Parts: sequence; structure tokens; C-alpha cells
Amino acid sequence: MEQFDVVVIGSGPGGYISAIRCAQLGFKVAIVEKYLSLGGTCLNVGCIPSKALLDSSEHYFNAVHHFEQHGIKIKDIKPDIKQMINRKRQVVKENSDGVAYLMKKNKITVFNGIGSFVSPQQVKVSSEKGTQELSAKYFIIATGSKPSTLPGIEIDKKQIITSTEALELETIPKHLIVIGGGVIGLELGSVFARLGSKVSVVEYLDRIIPTMDGALSKELQRLLKKNLGFEFYLQHKVLSAVKKSKEVIVTAQNKNGENIELKGDYVLVAVGRRPYTENLGLEKAGINTDERGRIIVNDHLQTSQPHIYAIGDVIRGPMLAHKAEEEGVFVAEVIAGQKPHINYLLIPGVVYTWPEVASVGYTEEQLKEQSIPYKVGQFPFKASGRAKASMDTDGFIKVLAHQTTDEILGVHMIAPRAADLIAEAVVAMEYKATAEDIGRICHPHPTFSEAFKEACLDAFEKRPLNF
Ligand code: FAD
Ligand code: NAD
Repeated sequence: MEQFDVVVIGSGPGGYISAIRCAQLGFKVAIVEKYLSLGGTCLNVGCIPSKALLDSSEHYFNAVHHFEQHGIKIKDIKPDIKQMINRKRQVVKENSDGVAYLMKKNKITVFNGIGSFVSPQQVKVSSEKGTQELSAKYFIIATGSKPSTLPGIEIDKKQIITSTEALELETIPKHLIVIGGGVIGLELGSVFARLGSKVSVVEYLDRIIPTMDGALSKELQRLLKKNLGFEFYLQHKVLSAVKKSKEVIVTAQNKNGENIELKGDYVLVAVGRRPYTENLGLEKAGINTDERGRIIVNDHLQTSQPHIYAIGDVIRGPMLAHKAEEEGVFVAEVIAGQKPHINYLLIPGVVYTWPEVASVGYTEEQLKEQSIPYKVGQFPFKASGRAKASMDTDGFIKVLAHQTTDEILGVHMIAPRAADLIAEAVVAMEYKATAEDIGRICHPHPTFSEAFKEACLDAFEKRPLNF
């Protein structure tokens, strides 16, 4: 039996970052991963491969639709999906190899196999090579999540697929039906729409990206329709998806109780993800889960066993890589006796469509619900010189500030490079900046970031300079 200070189960962004921080703090650390490729969902079948395909498809789309206007003439532009998938695989491999290097550099022992508790003090690692038992003072569960599905739908992994298969698709669908108007549906829908697929999104609720500020849902829906020809079926409850010869037929019920049928060659089921705790032996460790299968943790991220912690997608909160990472560092520092802190309100959310969508803090709907008095400032990219130069004039930045104190309470944007722009808003809010503070800070010209300053000036005293 090998003994460690800390054993981490799962090598996603939660697990591997936590292992590194534990090692930095002087602990003897092991990490257990069931797949040979380290990095979890994020590096292998999530954030990284989806962004690789989003980038490739965006280059193609721009070449077809925008290059001529920029004065670049190219003949016979064709998408080569096989090469796009190959490049994506290469990107994944480089990232995963990078994690393996980091484990080595930080002297973290990697065990390949399925980790499962045999008791609260021991984990068994099972692989084709046999089993091995590890004991530790502390354990960190970071086993992540898997795609959810719906009753009436069987994922065949060929035509009725989840994001995992969509990221390996070597054919461009003629008609891709996406079930779920959330992040995965819209990102992967964008990839294929840019490559020429017709994309229809069937969403149960009355708006897409339903957890984000309503203004973003509305504008993103309008832009995906206008720019990529997306069709939306909102307030439709999917009843079934059935294969019939080469087609898949999706039946959904609209708000009037009528059934509609959509026929496509591929159906992407993107209705959320569920925590993954199969084969983990939680019962043997005496660890409790909630009604949604998530491991229950307290404010220190301790499970019902105080020496066993859980982080990332397998616990409550948004299923985001950077949230998992923050929790990974947090737990390592708690174990080391430090007093770390995570402000969950300031975990930004991004949708990598084009334009990108990004958000941090309270939405306008939440401020209304909680009767917090607020004022709104907004700046459209059509008034930005930088956006005109790059032909990216769609979208806006919306700033919500406290009515009396002027403190920034929420920032919501649909913007070119919103994923990067939102970082300034996070910093501002972390330091409790007011809209006036940002309005008085010099921003480089010409940049997209000036739009944040302008939206803040609008929120502060309704005095944007360029609009
Ligand atoms: P995971 O990354 O899921 O890692 C868990 C690991 O544990 C896996 O490697 C798994 O094999 C392993 N494991 C599970 N059980 C065991 C066991 N018993 N023994 C050993 N190993 C085990 N988030 C973002 O922030 N930005 C994005 O752009 C983004 N894009 C995404 C795109 C897609 C298509 C998907 C599906 C997700 C995306 N996400 C994104 C979400 C992000 O991937 C997750 O939030 C993140 O990976 C969660 O990290 P984690 O460490 O909790 O778990
Ligand atoms: P999601 O929760 O973002 O969206 C699921 C959508 O499906 C929701 O809009 C929901 O209303 C809808 N839905 C649920 N049941 C339905 C039904 N029966 N019929 C029609 N629609 C239905 O989930 P996702 O898109 O599957 O993504 C899973 C997780 O992965 C998310 O939590 C997300 O945070 C993470 N992710 C993040 C990124 C990113 O940060 N850019 C990218 C991809 C995935």
C-alpha cells in the first residue's frame, strides 16, 4: 500500500490544478485518472477541443463571407473537416501532454485506473494491469460530469450524439437538430452552421442561454439567426428522437400542446451534464449526495467525511473549468491551514459564439427579484472605431451599477473578444469599483475595451463620449 498526504481522484482542471497547488504547499501527492490522457473533460472532450473547432470554423466562415470585403480574393474555398478534426486532436494532445509534464515537474505520482474508495481512508486503483491500494490523510474528489440525456432519447453515438461525439464528427451535417439552447448547443451549433449545416435549436424554456441576463439571450438569438441562419423552436418540449432510415425525427410539443416534427441527419443532445460518481465507492467512504447526484459539501468543500473534499462539476455551482480550478486551489490551501476565499458571484460565464457572450455578477432579472436598486449603462459596438475597423459591429456591453453607491453589480456583454474583455469587469468588481472609477480610467485606443469604459460612463451619469 502506497501512502500519500493527498490523493486526488480525477485529472480535469479541478483535479490537476489542485494536485499542483498541494505539491507547491509541500504535500506528497498522487492523482488517479481512469483515462491515459490527462486533463479531464475540459482538455479532452470539452473546452479545448470545442474552442479548436470554433476557431477553425470561424476562419472558414470569415474566408467565405468577409475576406472579399477586406480586399482578399481566394478561389475555391472548401472546408476540410477531417483536417479540422486532426488539428483539434493535435491541440488536445499537446495540452494533455502538458499536464503530464506538469505532474512530473511537481513530483506528483500519476496512477492510471479507476479510483474507488474501499474505506474512508483507502482508495483502490483498478486497471488492466491490476489493482493497487493507496492510503492518504486527505482525499480530493474531482471526478467531474458526463452528458445528461432525456427520457425518450437513446444516444446511439452515431447520429443521436452528445458533445463528445460532435467533437469527433468527420462529416458536416446537412441538418443538425440541437436539443437544448444552452452553451454547448450554441457553441457546437455555431461550428457546424459556419461550415454550412442548417442548424435548428429546440429549447424547452422561452429563451436561449436562460441563466444569463435576458438582454444577452435576445441579442444572441437575433445574431445567430441573422448571421448563421439558426432556426429556433423555443418553449418546445422534446418528446422523442427516433431514427428512420438515414434520418432522425425529433418530435417536440409546443406551448399550445401541439406536436411538431423536425427531420435531420444528426441530433445533438445538449441538455446539461450530470455529476459523475459511478464506480467511486462513495457508499464505502460514507459520502452523501443530493437529489441531483452531486456530492454534498460544506463551505470548506468538505464532504460528510471531513478529510475528504470534493470540487468542480461533481459538486454544486456552475459547471465551469475555471470554477473547478479555483476550488482546486481553495481546497489545497484549506488543507494547508490557510484561509482562502472564493467569491462565487464573481465567477464569469462565457459562450464562445461569435460575437462572444460573457457575464459576471448579478443579472438584471436577479437585481429586480432581490429589490436591489440599480441603474443601467450600455454601449453598442456599432459606435466603436475598433469594431468598425475589424467589421465586428454586432453586440453591446451592459453595465449594472447600484443606484446610489454606483458600485458595479453586473456586467453583461455580447462582443468581439468578450471572453477576454470580461476579465476587466471581474477585476473591477473584485475591488468593488464604481462605474465612475472605470469611466475615469484610461483605456487604450482603439480597442474593444473602450466599450466597457463607455458603458460605465453611461451607467454613471449617462455621459458616454462616443455615443
Ligand atoms: P472533469 O474535467 O470532468 O474531469 C474529471 C476527470 O475525472 C475525468 O478525466 C474522468 O475521467 C476522471 N474520473 C472520473 N471518475 C473517476 C474515477 N473513479 N477514477 C479515476 N478517474 C475518474 N468550461 C469552461 O469553463 N469553459 C469552456 O469553454 C467550456 N467548454 C466546454 C465544452 C464542452 C463541449 C463541454 C462538455 C464542457 C465545457 N466546459 C467548459 C465545462 C468544463 O469542461 C468542466 O466544467 C470542467 O472540465 C470540470 O472540471 P472537473 O475537474 O470538475 O471535471
Ligand atoms: P446548459 O445547462 O448550458 O444548457 C442546457 C439547455 O437545455 C438549457 O437551456 C435548458 O433549458 C435546455 N433543456 C433542458 N431540458 C430540455 C428539454 N427537455 N428540451 C429542450 N431543451 C431542454 O447545458 P449544456 O449546454 O449541455 O452544457 C453543460 C455544461 O457544460 C454547462 O453547465 C456549461 O457550464 C458547461 N459548458 C461551458 C461552456 C463554456 O463555458 N463556454 C461551454 C460548454 C459547456
